[in-house]
Amino acid sequence: DTGLMWFRRDLRASDNAALHHALRHCRQLWCVFVFDRDILDPLPRADRRVEFIRESLVALDARLRELGAEHGRPGTGLIVLHDQASRAIPALAERLGVQAVFANHDDEPAALARDAQVLGALAHQGVLLRTHKDHVIFERREVLTQSERAFGVFTPYKNAWLKALTPFHLKAYPIAKHAGALAPLPEGLSRPVPTLAEIGFQRTNLSQLALPTGEDGAHQLFDDFLQRIDRYDEARDYPAVKGPSYLSAHLRFGTVSVRALASIAHGLHAQGNPGASTWLSELIWRDFYHQILANFPHVAQRAFKPAYDAVRYEHGKAADALFQAWCEGRTGYPLVDAAMAQILQTGYMHNRLRMVVASFLVKDLGIHWQWGERYFAEHLIDFDLAANNGGWQWASSSGCDAQPWFRIFNPVTQSERFDPQGRFIRRYLPQLAGLPDAAIHAPWKASPVELAAAGLVLGDNYPLPLVDHAQAREKTLARYAVVKEQG
Ligand code: FAD
Repeated sequence: DTGLMWFRRDLRASDNAALHHALRHCRQLWCVFVFDRDILDPLPRADRRVEFIRESLVALDARLRELGAEHGRPGTGLIVLHDQASRAIPALAERLGVQAVFANHDDEPAALARDAQVLGALAHQGVLLRTHKDHVIFERREVLTQSERAFGVFTPYKNAWLKALTPFHLKAYPIAKHAGALAPLPEGLSRPVPTLAEIGFQRTNLSQLALPTGEDGAHQLFDDFLQRIDRYDEARDYPAVKGPSYLSAHLRFGTVSVRALASIAHGLHAQGNPGASTWLSELIWRDFYHQILANFPHVAQRAFKPAYDAVRYEHGKAADALFQAWCEGRTGYPLVDAAMAQILQTGYMHNRLRMVVASFLVKDLGIHWQWGERYFAEHLIDFDLAANNGGWQWASSSGCDAQPWFRIFNPVTQSERFDPQGRFIRRYLPQLAGLPDAAIHAPWKASPVELAAAGLVLGDNYPLPLVDHAQAREKTLARYAVVKEQG
């Protein structure tokens, strides 16, 4: 048999489920990635994700060539197209005359719709579409409650996840020893990975960020993280500290295998390593939100808990202005503004800050969580529909296992607790650097002497607070009362 491996969010040539099955099944296998115009055309022309993908494809192409050469098959590599995937995949399958196309599951609604279209077109040509689980440890309906329902609460899900786990679930799908099935690229399809300009994009500041790309980049980050995983549980909440792994973009685009990560984390967890146990929990949260999206796809449009669709958020010109100030980091709350500067400058935001700014948008400014969800979707390199939606619904109390609606983060207290010396704030808001530690969390409370010494004029070189937190809190409690009335 001959086949086509279609890479999507699994941009690696090691421990890859679909690639493993394809290589074992086929005598000759070609590999393709499509820069999908349906996804790319609406994006702004500078997008760090497109650059991250492109860099990672260069590495993947090189690795596929190397694997072919090792098996005495020169001329292998990755076919990279810039087209509509739903059209291009069936066309390429026909051109190559393959019997099957192989891919890994992607459960985002748009991806499922695209795959259904491709499946239909391929079926017409008598070609199979064979898909595999690869992106998560457990997917869809693999971990269920005793009454065979999907979980909506994390802790029982996690317990069931840990109970269901066997060595099989963490085992790698080997590639190198089967790579002899890689086929040389036919004339006309053997081209270098297109440049950003060739697909209509500009360079971003990605190369200046501490985010190396491709499989090697992921390994570099993971090796570094393993030096400090023991302290993850203590360090992970402090944005000024190098606590987390920074692997989220790699997990998003599959430049690393989640099985490889979970296997090491689980091994350390079994030895009683508290940092590794907490980190393993984060990987389980990732699976949790993926199964939420797969089993409750309405979350992509509406609240997980329907009663929360009744909450009326601010709208109109005043709301637009508040939202704009939040996006641009002009709220007057330093931790919020520093976090919004971080996402703009780097495409990343620390997890604690994602919670703080999300809560601030929804519960201090009274703006619909979907506005924030959309903004994050545009700016995060690690944007993932399942995790992002889960995070926003958590913050707005409308989701599964969410923050109760009456619990409202105080942005000043959060700042004092998690950035006590203002180190993170000073990094992103240098205009506040001269304030004493105690004053940096709420500059409007600083004395005139402190303000003068720091060269700060509120309302001039740093904004006054957009809202009063205590008043905003009362408004939010009233806003959410509709939920309470409905029980
Ligand atoms: P680490 O702390 O090293 O965690 C390891 C991995 O576990 C992460 O890379 C991620 O894949 C997974 N993970 C950690 N926390 C969560 C979580 N709460 N939910 C799901 N997976 C998790 N994560 C995304 O990957 N994409 C998003 O678009 C996204 N949007 C978010 C929006 C909001 C409002 C909130 C509160 C959280 C969001 N998260 C999102 C979850 C989390 O903030 C990031 O995964 C994390 O900050 C990434 O940094 P890291 O790789 O250094 O994480």
